[in-house]
Amino acid sequence: MPMKKKRARPRTRKAPRTRAARRWPPAAERAPDIFRRLSAEYPDAHCALDHVNPYELLAATILSAQCTDKRVNMVTPALFAKYPDARTLAAANPATLEEMIRSTGFFRNKTKSLLGMATAVTELHNGAVPDSMAALVALPGVGRKTANVVLGNAFRRDEGVVVDTHVGRLSRRLALTGESDPVKIEQDLMAIFPRPQWTVLAHLLISHGRAVCDSRRPQCDRCTVQSLCPSSTNKL
Ligand code: SF4
Repeated sequence: MPMKKKRARPRTRKAPRTRAARRWPPAAERAPDIFRRLSAEYPDAHCALDHVNPYELLAATILSAQCTDKRVNMVTPALFAKYPDARTLAAANPATLEEMIRSTGFFRNKTKSLLGMATAVTELHNGAVPDSMAALVALPGVGRKTANVVLGNAFRRDEGVVVDTHVGRLSRRLALTGESDPVKIEQDLMAIFPRPQWTVLAHLLISHGRAVCDSRRPQCDRCTVQSLCPSSTNKL
């Protein structure tokens, strides 16, 4: 007689799923303290991509895929001097653009995204980067993460939480989510942190991920949120 297949248990989005995390207060209870302590630790946390307007931030964010912000900041001064707005970028020679951004990696795809974005902004939005999630994600090469970066930092609108590799890793380690999909992680974070904190929260988690909670060797002994973290390697 064939073995009955076990039905997969539905995944709850509210409770952290690790055994260790279940002994801890719910994420929503720890969230205010986590935010407070990280804010005290990183009072200057901000967007690390150099920009002076929404167009520059949008282009820089497209370039930052699979590349460090530091590298992007080395490339963008010359790029924005030559193409100061969407109209000039839309008219750029693809080969010239490829050479200018080559060091950021994936330069052919990024060239296509930049040209597509600039053309759409020029033709559909009269050269001005739109300030809504729907219009931003409709641009070529722009996903929800990029749109969140632009909305939160160039337009000061907290429409969502930027979930990059640091934010995803820290959110799981801190048992703020049990998800691995960025969109679901973002939804979990939006449910437990108040809207005005969404943009800054990403900067705080990114800062902490870079400085202390490394992907391979988290330095739990010098972590400001250690007593709130179910993944701490230190015995409390
Ligand atoms: S206690 Fe350790 S695992 Fe938890 S956030 Fe701090 S460094 Fe990361």
